[in-house]
Amino acid sequence: MQTIRGFRDILPGRIGLWQKVEKEASRLFEAFGFKEIRIPVLEKTELFARSIGETTDIVEKEMYTFDDRKKDKLTLRPEATASIVRSYIQHKMYADNPIRKFYMTGPMFRRERPQKGRYRQFYQIDVEVFGVASAYIDSQLIYLLHNLFKNLGLTGLSAHINSLGCPECRPAYQKTLLNFLEAKKDLLCENCRRRMSKNPLRILDCKAQTCQDAIKNAPAILDNLCDECDNHFKIVKTTLEKQNVDFIVNKTLVRGLDYYTRTAWEIQTTSLGAQSAVAGGGRYDKLVKELGGPDTPAIGFAIGFDRLVEVMEQLNIEPLEPGLDLFIIAMGNEAMDKAYHWSCNINQNGLRSETDFQGKSLKSLMKKANKLNAGHVLIAGDKEVKENAFILRNMETKEQVIINGDSLLADLINILKKQ
Ligand code: AMP
Repeated sequence: MQTIRGFRDILPGRIGLWQKVEKEASRLFEAFGFKEIRIPVLEKTELFARSIGETTDIVEKEMYTFDDRKKDKLTLRPEATASIVRSYIQHKMYADNPIRKFYMTGPMFRRERPQKGRYRQFYQIDVEVFGVASAYIDSQLIYLLHNLFKNLGLTGLSAHINSLGCPECRPAYQKTLLNFLEAKKDLLCENCRRRMSKNPLRILDCKAQTCQDAIKNAPAILDNLCDECDNHFKIVKTTLEKQNVDFIVNKTLVRGLDYYTRTAWEIQTTSLGAQSAVAGGGRYDKLVKELGGPDTPAIGFAIGFDRLVEVMEQLNIEPLEPGLDLFIIAMGNEAMDKAYHWSCNINQNGLRSETDFQGKSLKSLMKKANKLNAGHVLIAGDKEVKENAFILRNMETKEQVIINGDSLLADLINILKKQ
């Protein structure tokens, strides 16, 4: 039996970087006042169709959708924002405190063509803020991403930012864009021609070279913003500059989801070939209302966890691999019995210890201790058991001390905790 195409196992040997990211992300997000939220993997299809947009790639062709036994249409979540908005509304979180800051990590599902950096089950780290219209929050989320990546040791990433306007200024811009596109219609790919009237902005984002050439001199939304959107974007830029966060203004960045308003951004890398976006986000001030909640501004981002780890691997960033505090070498039945209880007790005290019950020789157990990167080794052979005195060896300094069996556990825990 094999995994399904586009699905994969992440084995214990490769999990160290994933854990390093998770640990640093939750530390940083908690420090900035975010709370973890957990949402279901399965939702009603309607939720994604209505929020992400009927004419997006995700909704048109990438969702894993099926009828359950009662013929309800269900979908494996392709992203987290829609579900978190649903949760915010369903639990009336806006009632006592409309300002909510969430983060979560989990699998998403999109039936894309699998390749390096693109999977059908992939993981995202997701952050959302509800109830704050201020441009400072837009800057803060980009700042947060910048710092998370910096703290993890990543280099070579760049933040691309754009503004997508609002319902005040976007309709007029869409008309201007549509006029421009009408003249180029024959040069556009089939997909873009079909989408043109419904969603002309998406054409700016099309990867097809013919479309890229055709839209080269297209009018930019950034040059057609209303005063409020223009001012909002200016604050985002000056705040980022003051915080020394490098960014590039990218006038064609529109992102693949329909719900964005005002600031949208992507963190890009050059090291993963075609799959260059490691994270993406944007403001979505109208979505909460569109899904049945009160008029609530909101903004968020998602990090592509799989891609982030791939970039870290390329940069040879060290994974989180806590070594063993103690390896107990036990030879003989009586020693093994003692070693078993000592080991459990030590682990119970939050220290990492292991022993081996296969009756191997001192030499091969010493080898194993080295392989497991043990800080200390406790030697318990027949002689030590008989004399009730055990040898504790510091594997780094090679120093050895004798520990009396009567006070062994307390002494051991004391020494190991000091390391
Ligand atoms: P999106 O939800 O489309 O804005 O994507 C946010 C981030 O998730 C992207 O920047 C990618 O890093 C990552 N991502 C999206 N789709 C996939 C996929 N199929 N496989 C791996 N990562 C993905």
